[in-house]
Amino acid sequence: MSRYRGSVCRQCRRENMKLFLKGDRCFSDKCSFDRRAYPPGQHGQRRGKSSDYGIQLREKQKVRRIYGISEKQFRIIFANADRQKGITGINLLTLLERRLDNVVFRLGFTSSRTQGRHFVMHNHFLVNGKRVNIPSYVIQNGDVIELREKSKNIKAISDSVETVVRRGIPQWLELDKDGLKGVVKSLPNREDITLPIQEQLIVELYSK
Ligand code: SF4
Repeated sequence: MSRYRGSVCRQCRRENMKLFLKGDRCFSDKCSFDRRAYPPGQHGQRRGKSSDYGIQLREKQKVRRIYGISEKQFRIIFANADRQKGITGINLLTLLERRLDNVVFRLGFTSSRTQGRHFVMHNHFLVNGKRVNIPSYVIQNGDVIELREKSKNIKAISDSVETVVRRGIPQWLELDKDGLKGVVKSLPNREDITLPIQEQLIVELYSK
């Protein structure tokens, strides 16, 4: 899978909002967006009005960057969302939210989704008692996500769990902080995704 290898903070500046891609740094005064809240590049401060297409494209890029997904994967998830019953845009967001790399981040086991992806791939988590190392694994209602015994003393994980209060755990998940275990109490709905996303713009973009 092609992966973005440039500056992570540049993505926030490009999308004109904090995407919280760098864990603790995002909450500190080192945040690049807080210091330079304008698009990167020589003409970043001079960019004019966007076309409808430009606005739709930026919305799609923003969501893709928040969840750390390649264009190819994003299209596949969109196609799955479109096949499901209900509103495609909402289906898309809930499918993204149910990815295992996002869930371990939401539970506070990792400080970012990128780190979540990394730790999932390195076999640190069990889902319903079985090892799962696929970041795109889609969790189901009632699933139990826990750290493997030998992964419980990883400092990055305990540090992250200690600071999860700052971002809060969504109501559809429950964390047992001492047991380093999380339960999916219900599947997420649109109201649970509080990021400022206009998903209908993505649907319009892909419907052209
Ligand atoms: Fe974005 Fe975080 Fe970098 Fe700030 S520190 S610009 S929120 S990734």
